[in-house]
Amino acid sequence: MSKQVCVDCITDSYLQTNFSDNDVDECDYCNEERPVVTLEELVEELEEAIQASFTESPRIL
Ligand SMILES: [Zn+2]
Repeated sequence: MSKQVCVDCITDSYLQTNFSDNDVDECDYCNEERPVVTLEELVEELEEAIQASFTESPRIL
């Protein structure tokens, strides 16, 4: 099963806002019940955000 992380453990404010309406569940890192996102979702969102801001060099990772 995929790990999930809560919005409180994500330090990026853009991502925090983005996932703040997600379903509440237990975070795998702080064990608090908060809106969570799976690591897969988080990576997908990061890639989209990076490609949107760095369209000329999308492979910087
Ligand atoms: Zn957490």
